[in-house]
Amino acid sequence: MHLRLSRRSALLGAAGLAIARRQVAVAQEPRSLPLAWPGRHPGDGFWIRNAFASENTWYNPGWWHCGEDWYALGDVETGGAEVLSVGQGRVVYVGSDYPGRVVIVEQEDGLYAMYGHMDPDSIVPEGTPVRAGDMLGTVYHRTDGRAPSHLHFEMRTFLFSDRVNGEHPEHGVRCGLNCPPGPGYWPMSAEHPAELGWRNPVLAMAAATFTGRCYVTESAPSAMMPFLDQPGGESLGEQALRAGDLVEIGEVSGLDAAATETSAEHYQVWGRTSIGGQSGWLRIVQPADGDTGSDGRPASVEILLAPERFML
Ligand SMILES: [Zn+2]
Repeated sequence: MHLRLSRRSALLGAAGLAIARRQVAVAQEPRSLPLAWPGRHPGDGFWIRNAFASENTWYNPGWWHCGEDWYALGDVETGGAEVLSVGQGRVVYVGSDYPGRVVIVEQEDGLYAMYGHMDPDSIVPEGTPVRAGDMLGTVYHRTDGRAPSHLHFEMRTFLFSDRVNGEHPEHGVRCGLNCPPGPGYWPMSAEHPAELGWRNPVLAMAAATFTGRCYVTESAPSAMMPFLDQPGGESLGEQALRAGDLVEIGEVSGLDAAATETSAEHYQVWGRTSIGGQSGWLRIVQPADGDTGSDGRPASVEILLAPERFML
């Protein structure tokens, strides 16, 4: 692996990673990321292959994705991965043949979190109260050949919305009349999914997910990560961080979950931390071109930091 070592990052690498001493208050109830491998931090070992409001050219060209498709990294089978509730609430729906089941949690923050393609034999029953990090089940092993096993994950403001999945569904793909899961996609020629109540899942959760102790994931592009004076600002020098390194995030930026941006380019989430006594910003997630829309813009997202695992 070719590494460009700046003098500053080499010094920091030798000194190790200093953690900010100041305890930062978490402003909101904690949130988890929706997938985990046993014994690892939520989100570590996964990526979003098809992001919110991006076009999946091989599966549903011409439609915006209303959620995120989470996959295991590399050639690892995603079926069997643990699906975690991202927030606190109650399971209000279990059903459908998506394929696999759909679970919907009504969260105390007023949002509905929807988890699609779950193993029918693994799921918690309807009515179950859940907290962030509680296991809802596992990802269904798909054998239909239409798509590899993955988790389809949505955050939205509604369980039923008249035009989406209620009495008058305008695009009844895969679901239709009074069908809680909903279509999962919305035509690119119509409104942006955010105008109908869908939210960008990672951006909706990011402040409460990533504030506090986080670990550098397997997805970090190399040992070197950019360290900026402000989100998208000037470089303070790259940091020698490795998978498993701990960072304390005091503040998260890039949080407009209702923005009507498209493609994965709008996954610009940064976290403020202190390294070697210097305050700066690290990337938490970043757009990736594993998949692209038909306009060539990225449809995928890499998760560079993972929150400390929720323990009951
Ligand atoms: Zn999907």
